[in-house]
Amino acid sequence: MDESEQTGPKPKYHRIILKLSGEVLRNAEDGEPIDAKTLKSICEEVKKVYDIGVQVGLVIGGGNIFRGLSGAEMRGVDRTTGDYMGMLATVINGLAILDCLEKLGVTVRLQSAIPMDKLAEPFILRRATRHLERGRVVIFAGGTGNPYFSTDTTAALRASEIGADMLMKATKVDGIYDKDPAKHDDAVKYDKIAYIDALRDRLKIMDSTAFSLCMENKMPILVFSMREPGSIYRAVMGDAIGTLVE
Ligand code: UDP
Repeated sequence: MDESEQTGPKPKYHRIILKLSGEVLRNAEDGEPIDAKTLKSICEEVKKVYDIGVQVGLVIGGGNIFRGLSGAEMRGVDRTTGDYMGMLATVINGLAILDCLEKLGVTVRLQSAIPMDKLAEPFILRRATRHLERGRVVIFAGGTGNPYFSTDTTAALRASEIGADMLMKATKVDGIYDKDPAKHDDAVKYDKIAYIDALRDRLKIMDSTAFSLCMENKMPILVFSMREPGSIYRAVMGDAIGTLVE
């Protein structure tokens, strides 16, 4: 359906990159890396914005399974090997999300930055944007395909590449604070902050490569909590949730 013909709620943002860290899939009680119930509830949240015609690119992390630097140190493998293990972890998460979204009736494609033709399409920008235009959710797995990067950087990169209106980073915290809210009762949340102020105040929003990519490409970042139901929906409707960096 042509967007102009659509009735019902009108989203403020039409094409987004949603960055989910691997940890959002973890079972908080038993520590299992992928929890079926949590996975389903996240996919239902994604479906809510898919149903109103928002073009969704999903970048999934792998930290619930393996993180390059810390994982490599513990297991004695090289950093680069650890990073490839981390990138493979994002593919595992990507497959779980693919499967779950499909079961909910969402049309979805999985693209991997590391070619794996038995289970995912290779990442091809034009093909990805075509999928989005046709109303398919695209999951970008495999990170950037290069060691020494993160999936936050992948999200910044893909957001710029597909010309997203915004990079939405769903986390466990409901926005950006002037200091760590877990340690300081008087921490103050920002509703909005300029890139340059976030840099000056050394607020850790994402790693510096990811952050500078967004700043250089004028890609707005919305940091919000995944814990409140309906938050992705509210974010695309332009409700004042989380912290906007622009
Ligand atoms: N990784 C990488 N290159 C990339 C993206 C990810 O080497 O372009 C590796 C890196 O080791 C990282 C791991 O994959 O620790 C998992 O990604 P990340 O830590 O960003 O996941 P998240 O914290 O978002 O779950």
